[in-house]
Amino acid sequence: MSYNLDQLNAYCKRYGFIYQGSEIYGGLANTWDYGPLGASLKNNIKKLWWEEFVSKNPLNVGLDSSILLNPKTWEATGHVSGFKDPLMDCKQCKSRHRADNLISQATKNQVDADGWDYQQMYDYIIENKIKCPVCGGFDYTPIREFNLMFKTHQGVTTESINDIYLRPETAQGIFLNFKNVQRTSRKKVPFGIGQIGKSFRNEITPGNYIFRTREFEQMEMEFFCKPGTELEWFAYWKKFALAFLKKAGLKEESVKLYDHPKEKLSFYSNATTDILYNYPWGFDELWGIASRTDYDLRRHQEYSGEKLEYLDPDTNESYLPYVIEPALGVERLLLAILIDNLEEETLSDGETRTLLRISRALAPIKITVLPLVKKYQGDKAEEVYNQLLEDFEVTYDDTGNIGRRYRRADAIGTPYCVTIDEQTLQDDTVTIRERDTMEQVRVSLDNLNEFLRIELKK
Ligand code: ATP
Repeated sequence: MSYNLDQLNAYCKRYGFIYQGSEIYGGLANTWDYGPLGASLKNNIKKLWWEEFVSKNPLNVGLDSSILLNPKTWEATGHVSGFKDPLMDCKQCKSRHRADNLISQATKNQVDADGWDYQQMYDYIIENKIKCPVCGGFDYTPIREFNLMFKTHQGVTTESINDIYLRPETAQGIFLNFKNVQRTSRKKVPFGIGQIGKSFRNEITPGNYIFRTREFEQMEMEFFCKPGTELEWFAYWKKFALAFLKKAGLKEESVKLYDHPKEKLSFYSNATTDILYNYPWGFDELWGIASRTDYDLRRHQEYSGEKLEYLDPDTNESYLPYVIEPALGVERLLLAILIDNLEEETLSDGETRTLLRISRALAPIKITVLPLVKKYQGDKAEEVYNQLLEDFEVTYDDTGNIGRRYRRADAIGTPYCVTIDEQTLQDDTVTIRERDTMEQVRVSLDNLNEFLRIELKK
């Protein structure tokens, strides 16, 4: 059985992965809070990305730039004038829609209105009598432009001179720091700068659980290379991204590539590919990978007056590097990982168990320590728990019968259960049960941490 979004939501709430945001006040639409397991899973995803793209990657370095940037940044990039969606209201039920989405949904993605002007979209909707997906009505307002950036004020006055934006992407903080990072890290082009952080977009149609929200986290990299080499690097990072998703535990068949056709590319891009994941509503964007030419650096150079060119020490040439940008949402990957790895397994005795077959690196909890009978082995189990706490994310569980405790560990993806029983008190050995095979081995306490360290790397 594969989970639909409602079942997944119930699962995440029950086990403490994800809760509705501001729940005790009736919630705040499309906000989600990550509970103990969700927070841990999110951190593990970010850690894996950071290792693969930054700390263990000889090509790249890392950055943590501000959410609030000088507002000129967004004029330079075109976000102030151009980061807009076509908004249309249904007059009958007052629901809001993105005109381009109305078209793609009604035509089951056969017609892609991306790049059309608003009149074209409006005419298509009217001529083809596309009905409101919420109420079935056919009575729309004209299309209005809606800027997706969250605006706020800096300082004590609310005059428009102090208008400032929450960043809609982490990428621009990287471009603003290109020179700083290059100089201080002494990196030579080609090299990349990776960053993880919150971004904000006032989306018209958030939804599909945590897929599209107004506050979300991105893991982005800008990879700077010599003009003319960008398409090779584009191919390189696409392959790298697919290998990363495999490491993160996504099945090959759950993922596919969508190459944007040449005529649909953003004017600054000479290649763009989306990695799509097969979400419960169909394939949709998980990861965007774009070859952005020197657009961002050139615009920031123009608007700031600062020279952002790179001087190649080997050839003495000066140039603005071209850029490849793989941009991935933390929550979209988290959602894909849960969907891909959560299953109801029927066992040989006919019973079923909920099993999260998540990779060991991402499992929110690595080990659970269980005394078989609390009254007799509780003290020893606490000792073992403390021994393991030194090295691992580990929990202690002594409530309910042992079978139920194993099931709970399986359901949240804990790779190993360590059970303390009568024999432990006599010979200092414990039973280790593996999640997927449910096979058990006996290991001595002296050797326990080392044994698990090796197993968890597998
Ligand atoms: P979409 O077409 O789904 O709106 P996009 O093409 O605007 O996405 P990008 O600007 O390429 O997205 O952002 C890079 C990545 O950031 C996306 O692939 C996605 O993983 C994530 N992302 C973007 N917008 C959101 C959002 N509103 N909620 C959650 N994640 C998001």
